[in-house]
Amino acid sequence: MPLVSSTPMLQAARAGGYCIGAFNVHTLEMLQAVVEAAVETESPLIIQSTVGTVKHLGPEYIAAAATVASNLNPRIPIALHLDHCTEFDLIVRCIRAGYTSVMIDASHSPFDDNVAQTKRVVEVAKPAGVNVEAELGKVGGVEDDIVVADNEALMADPDECAAFVELTGVPTLAPAIGTAHGIYKGEPKIDFDRIGRIASKVDVPLVLHGGSGIPEEQVRRCVALGMAKMNVATELRIVFSDAIKAVFAQNPDENDPRKYMVPAKKALKEAAIEKMRLCGSFGKANDFR
Ligand SMILES: [Zn+2]
Repeated sequence: MPLVSSTPMLQAARAGGYCIGAFNVHTLEMLQAVVEAAVETESPLIIQSTVGTVKHLGPEYIAAAATVASNLNPRIPIALHLDHCTEFDLIVRCIRAGYTSVMIDASHSPFDDNVAQTKRVVEVAKPAGVNVEAELGKVGGVEDDIVVADNEALMADPDECAAFVELTGVPTLAPAIGTAHGIYKGEPKIDFDRIGRIASKVDVPLVLHGGSGIPEEQVRRCVALGMAKMNVATELRIVFSDAIKAVFAQNPDENDPRKYMVPAKKALKEAAIEKMRLCGSFGKANDFR
């Protein structure tokens, strides 16, 4: 089946008390690995790419590969999402290329400007059947070329979240609640009380950014409170790269990409399966048949 919008997928996840893993991929093999993980565990899947990867590979190539994956695996609902985009024109290009979900990240702008930019994207995306995600507050850490210092990481305000969803009509919201991009130094300081207060005021699915290295018990609490999508990027890149490094450590002269990509794919697939287990998404693809 063709790629699907992530909106109904995420609404079902929030209603069903589970979460869907959204995995950042940078190469064809990474895309294949997360698809294999979803097929093996019968999990709904969101494949995502950052703006940097979109500019590196071209959105048309990524959308074509994701579409093939979706057509080859009709039992698994697969969405393709553009992560953290600040450029309206690139969002439009990705939608034209076949992306079924986009994030407009105007979280660094004042509230009114964030509302205006998000609304503009919703007006383009909704008629095309494309999901939109927006961010309120600031998630700390480094995501591509967006850097937020820890002390600058501002938490989302529950009342502002409610007003934001009302004003923009955005179907999914990523509120900053204490997670950060990259790998945590120590345990993440997640504000669970804040997630609960936001979820009580906002009925759209919520998105958890910075899913690399959040302990299992904390992921489960986030999901129980209404987080329906968990983004994982850094951890997967590390697993994939480490597997390649291990091949070269053993055989520095290796020059056949298949020899190092095969173990890297396998390691990434296993890491993605582990995240899907944390999300509680095993078997949930069957709900969409
Ligand atoms: Zn993020």
